[in-house]
Amino acid sequence: MPASNSLNTATGEPVLYGYCTWHCGYSADIRVINVDEQGSGPGGVQSACLPCREKYDLVPFSDRP
Ligand SMILES: [Zn+2]
Repeated sequence: MPASNSLNTATGEPVLYGYCTWHCGYSADIRVINVDEQGSGPGGVQSACLPCREKYDLVPFSDRP
């Protein structure tokens, strides 16, 4: 288990409210799925809520190896 940057994993889960790219609306429990680091323009981050992550089998960006 990685020891760095794991402050939020121990107690409770932080509920992040944000925009879900998949159903095009705001929702709770938003996680970043993809980060496109091309250029410097906006729109490079794709985030998804929990229902969409389950529906589309998405893996959060931070949970990838
Ligand atoms: Zn969604």
